[in-house]
Amino acid sequence: MYDIRGLNEECGVFGIWNHPHAAYLTYMALHSLQHRGQEGAGIVCSNGEQLFGARGMGLLTEAISQQQLDSLQGYPNAIGHVRYATTGASEISNVQPFLFKHSKGDLGLAHNGNLTNAHQIRLAIESTGGIFQTTSDSEVLAHLLIKGKSENIKTNQKAALNQVKGAFSCVILNEGQLTATRDNRGVRPLMLGQVDGAYCVASETCAFTAIGAEYIRDIEPGELITFSGENEVEYDMYTQDIGYKMCSMEYVYFARPDSEFHRHSIYNVRKALGRKLAEEMGIDADIVIGVPDSSLQAAKGFSEQTGIPNEQGLLKNRYIGRTFITPDQSVRERQVRMKHSPIRDVIEGKRVVVIDDSIVRGTTSKYIVKALKSAGAKEVHMGISSPPLQDPCYYGIDVSTHAELMAAQHTVEEIREMIGADTLTYLSVEGMHEVFKAHDSKGECNACFTGDYPIEIVDHELPEVKEMKRRGV
Ligand code: SF4
Repeated sequence: MYDIRGLNEECGVFGIWNHPHAAYLTYMALHSLQHRGQEGAGIVCSNGEQLFGARGMGLLTEAISQQQLDSLQGYPNAIGHVRYATTGASEISNVQPFLFKHSKGDLGLAHNGNLTNAHQIRLAIESTGGIFQTTSDSEVLAHLLIKGKSENIKTNQKAALNQVKGAFSCVILNEGQLTATRDNRGVRPLMLGQVDGAYCVASETCAFTAIGAEYIRDIEPGELITFSGENEVEYDMYTQDIGYKMCSMEYVYFARPDSEFHRHSIYNVRKALGRKLAEEMGIDADIVIGVPDSSLQAAKGFSEQTGIPNEQGLLKNRYIGRTFITPDQSVRERQVRMKHSPIRDVIEGKRVVVIDDSIVRGTTSKYIVKALKSAGAKEVHMGISSPPLQDPCYYGIDVSTHAELMAAQHTVEEIREMIGADTLTYLSVEGMHEVFKAHDSKGECNACFTGDYPIEIVDHELPEVKEMKRRGV
């Protein structure tokens, strides 16, 4: 689905082991992860002998009814998923968690991220007679998990995980165990928590806050954690080839400000990005405002650094929901206008610094500058709390072509002119990493800013994939 904001996260996952209200807690946790995906949601539960599930399209409240949720009550183990489609069409068959019935046992799988060799593996499986029910890359991982030759589930999991490349934070449910694992570069977040003595895992710690769980720690790249029995837990690695390449955009834009990575709130990281941008921008103005909601913290940091008063100059309409798909640019611009309104009293006669976290297609920035000037701003200086987005993401974000990115097509000066700002300043790549490091991050992916991809993108080069893209599949 097309969204004028431009960037969308692929998914959020949650899992809980041995809690009497596993399904309800999963539902509440997914609610707090809703910002990571709004196209579909599901829950799969285990009673120790069999797996049961419920899933549907749309927001969580639309996807899972009270009746379905009640039917899962009493099962002590659960995994859940909220989905935004980047790989695979937006249809019910692709909504996770997937639930497979197999002679070896039931399998539930929920995945956040994007596998970069899924097509290659899929073609190999299909060539030996394998059949896929979905167009999702996650089903490829499920096939590999089921195909394992060992009697030992963990041995099969390790073998499967060593075959896939890309970004994945996964929860895997078997009748007798729950497994949580994160790819060996840790691109997508995955956190470990505990509630009422039961272990839980989530894409973000805001899910722990929602269910009253304690945040224990971030799950490490390459880690494989297994929960079973009465809260037994085994910590293991599926590979020794590990590195740290956390997605920079999780910090900048995707994660909720009340979530924490490495025990630092995203709120504080974004404020620090704003302070760093202020240092690099070196501009004088009367007020600084943030584009709601994800840039409000960066604007606050900018204000703290410069002493320029921070005002609320833009109001966000909270009741719009998803904007509809339209190929017409003028309609898209009207959609942006519905989303953000300037407050004339705050803006009129002022030199305004407006902070946003990114520019994707430029539609929002152009409207915002125009709206601020129409509201009487004397000058509009735009500051972006991340570097120019100029390369596609293959690790789970929905920008997959250069054509979709304004900074891939134009210089900063050209973009400034096109959006109508008096000045335009992006945070430098170095400045951004400095901020993350100061918040205990061990290393980040910055491929969409630099083109330096930390994980091999196998599928992109396959002739079959090129042909599918050409046909718009
Ligand atoms: S390419 Fe960009 S959006 Fe994708 S994982 Fe890397 S930093 Fe995140």
